[in-house]
Amino acid sequence: MNSSRPPFAGWIRSSNTITQQFLSIGGKPDIVSLAGGLPAAELYPVGAIRDATERALRRWGSSVLEYGPVEGLYALRETIAARTSAESGGKFLAANVMLMTGAMQGLDLVGKTLVDPGDLILAQVPTYLGALDAWRPRQPRYEKFDWNCERPGFDAALAQAKFAYVVPNYSNPTGALVPQPQRLALLDKVRASGTWLLEDDPYHSIHFDGDPGLDILESDARQFKGVYDGPVIYLGTLSKSIVPGLRVGWAIAAAGMIEKLALAKQSSDLSSSLFTQAIALELLESGFDLEHSRSINERYRERRDTLCSEAAARLGDWFEWEIPPGGMFVWMRARDPRIDTNELYKVALEEKVAFVPGSVFDPDGKDHSAMRVNFTRSSPEVIAEGVRRLEKAVKRYLHR
Ligand code: PMP
Repeated sequence: MNSSRPPFAGWIRSSNTITQQFLSIGGKPDIVSLAGGLPAAELYPVGAIRDATERALRRWGSSVLEYGPVEGLYALRETIAARTSAESGGKFLAANVMLMTGAMQGLDLVGKTLVDPGDLILAQVPTYLGALDAWRPRQPRYEKFDWNCERPGFDAALAQAKFAYVVPNYSNPTGALVPQPQRLALLDKVRASGTWLLEDDPYHSIHFDGDPGLDILESDARQFKGVYDGPVIYLGTLSKSIVPGLRVGWAIAAAGMIEKLALAKQSSDLSSSLFTQAIALELLESGFDLEHSRSINERYRERRDTLCSEAAARLGDWFEWEIPPGGMFVWMRARDPRIDTNELYKVALEEKVAFVPGSVFDPDGKDHSAMRVNFTRSSPEVIAEGVRRLEKAVKRYLHR
C-alpha cells in the first residue's frame, strides 16, 4: 500500500484479526473448526423461514422493502415488549425496544452512545471478544469483574464506570450460568451507583439442564410500578435461537436510552432491514422460535456431552473445565503450567483443528492459560475427530 497516504485511525493498530481468521477457517474443509460461535447450519429451519417470508410479504407488501424507521418495525417492537412484560411481570412498551442488525450492533451503539476515550467499562472476565472489538474504536479503559461485588474497590470502580457489561446466561466464552443471588447483588450495586448495566443475552434459549431463570432486566422490571425506566440495557437476538443470517437483534431499555441509541444508529446505517424484521415477526408471533429452540437444544446437548466425554478421555491430563449447562462453548483451562494456549493454537492449526485462545477474551490480552472450544457447529463425529487432533497437538506442543 502507498505509504504516503494518510495513516489509518489509531485504534486499527490495536485491533484483533482472530475473528476474521476463524470465520475464514470455517470455510476450509480440511480443518475441524471448534473455534467459531456458530449454530449448526444443517439445523437451520429453511422451510419455516421460507413460509414466514411468504406470509410476511403477503402481509406487508412493498412497505417492508423500504428504508425503515430507525427503531425498526413497530409491530415487532410491540411483540418483543409484550413478551418481555409477560415473562417479567413488568411493563414494557414499544418505546422500550429498538431493533437492530444483531446484538453486535447493540454493543457498538452502546459504545457510541456512552463511551468517550478513556472512559471506564467494568467488564465481566473473560469478556466476549466481539464486545472488546466493538468498543476498541472508543478507546475505553477496563476494570475486570469476576461477579464478586463484595471485593474491595468494587463500589468505587462501579461508581466511575460508564456501564458494567455482563453475559449472565451461558456466557461467551465460558458457558457459565450466573446464579440468581449474584445477579441480584450486582443489580443492587448498580441501582445504588447510578450507572448503567449492559446485559448481553444471546444464549438465553440454548440450555440443556433447565431454564436459566430471570434475566437481570426482568428482575429489575418488577421493581417498577409503571413503564420500565431502570438502568439495564438488555440485548437480545435471533442469531442463536433461529439463524444468524436474519441479523435481527434488539435492545430493551428505558425509553430515554432507546432514544439516544436510535440517534447513534441513524448515523451508522439509517435502519436495519425491515424485511427480515417482518420475517422475524411471523416466527415470534407463532412461537416458532420457542419450539425450534427446544428441538435444537436436544441436538446441542448430545454434542456438548460428546465434547466433554471425548475431552475427559484425551485432554483431561492437561485441561480442566466445568460442563456448561447451556450456550455453545466449553472453557478449558490449562492445569499444566507449561501450556500457553496462544502457542498451542499454532500447533493445533498444523494438526488441522482450531479453537479460540483465551487471550482474546481478556481486555489486556494476558490470559494465555485457557481456550474456548465450540460444540454446536459440528456433528458429534467431527467433534470427536477434533478432540483427537487436539490431543495430538498438545502432545507435539509439549514435546517440542
Ligand atoms: N454477544 C455475545 C455474547 C455473542 O456471543 C454474540 C455472537 N457471537 C453476540 C453478542 C452477537 O450476536 P448477533 O449475531 O446477534 O450480532
